[in-house]
Amino acid sequence: MAAPFSILEIKKRRNIKGRGNIMESGIKSSLQKCPAAGRCGGCDLQGVGYDQQLAQKNRQLKKLLSGLATELYPIQGMDDPTHYRCKVNAAFGLNRKGKPVLGRYEKNTHHIVQTPDCMIEDERACEITQAIYSLLPSFRIRVYDEDSGYGFLRHVQIRRGWATGQYMVTLVCTDPVFPSKQNFVKALRTRFPEISTIVLNINDRHTSMVLGERSITLYGKGYIEDQLCGSTFRISPGSFYQINPAQTQRLYETALEYAGLTGREHVLDAYCGTGTIGIIAAKRARQVTGVELNRDAVRDAVWNARRNRTENIRFIKMDATEYMEQLSAGRGGLREGGKRPDVLILDPPRSGTTPRFIEAAARMRPDRIVYVSCGPDTLARDLKLFRKKGYQAQKAQGVDLFPFTNHLETVCLLTHNG
Ligand code: SAH
Repeated sequence: MAAPFSILEIKKRRNIKGRGNIMESGIKSSLQKCPAAGRCGGCDLQGVGYDQQLAQKNRQLKKLLSGLATELYPIQGMDDPTHYRCKVNAAFGLNRKGKPVLGRYEKNTHHIVQTPDCMIEDERACEITQAIYSLLPSFRIRVYDEDSGYGFLRHVQIRRGWATGQYMVTLVCTDPVFPSKQNFVKALRTRFPEISTIVLNINDRHTSMVLGERSITLYGKGYIEDQLCGSTFRISPGSFYQINPAQTQRLYETALEYAGLTGREHVLDAYCGTGTIGIIAAKRARQVTGVELNRDAVRDAVWNARRNRTENIRFIKMDATEYMEQLSAGRGGLREGGKRPDVLILDPPRSGTTPRFIEAAARMRPDRIVYVSCGPDTLARDLKLFRKKGYQAQKAQGVDLFPFTNHLETVCLLTHNG
């Protein structure tokens, strides 16, 4: 673990370490500005070298957390910050001349920008989307036209298992009947044998949502798997899974290091999603409870726990604040596992958690609270409330999950003053 830093120090340390590749890739990425920069909604930091991006994020965190966190550690960046997105969504449409086009939506519009050499998306996934595009004429597949509502193929989503190398292709279409589907599957699989499943998702509504509710598996199991910190997780077309698993693993490792588990603790994993953090933590804890509001995520979490033969974890589908209040009022026993947590891990959405959650959490006096945040502003806001309730942030560290964007993940350890 690196020592806490001042901005000057961090600059020095990175030079001393001589991480030549990072420097080079930082310089390279600042030179090779994407032709779609400023139009495509994908990157905010095009043209900014990677070292500068990290320094910028460090400064942002330092400003937000100074006076709130006792120690701030330098952000963990990527050795190669390009092509990290393991989930690629591409939209089909017609250009002004009525010719099919494939690309990403322009920022805040539904106008398609062609981005064949995207700098942050998985390269193989981009090749697969291009191959699908080139197969369209021979299969007489018409792309969907948003204006008229006619056409068949709307989107393609590619997801890659980072550790497993499995690829899932989801074709979002307006109709459940896919023309010559066997031949289409064969044509794709011949070129890309790493595609382990192909799913047809039906979305016939005039909506900006990519996926519709119904899916039909055309090939394989209908889902892929990936591994993080030695556990296996299922990724279905609609399930939430961090798009940068390499950095997610570092994020979770830091969170677990902060959690300081010895095998005896009761852990509460609030906002647990598909159970990833809790399942990994369960290997080093006595009992874990995951709380999550989204029904599909809870279903995936239960599946993931079974897949990993994790028996000391349970999931509760409930609003995290309500659960905390019930638990702190001693009514957690209403549902099995309602014990006071020794360690509380929370990973809320960008909007952060609630004052009521913080109040109830503090009342239970967990030994350690690990706050995993994807919104630095709300993290700072919530840390202030925690401090009022006697919990001080001992250390914090950023992890760069989204190079070339302004997004910033942070892990923070809080302990009670008394
Ligand atoms: N810890 C998980 C997911 C974090 S994303 C991971 O690392 O993958 C935040 C999660 O909080 C989402 O799954 C979202 O569905 C859930 N969520 C949002 N509001 C919630 C609430 N009020 N109560 C419980 N869960 C909530």
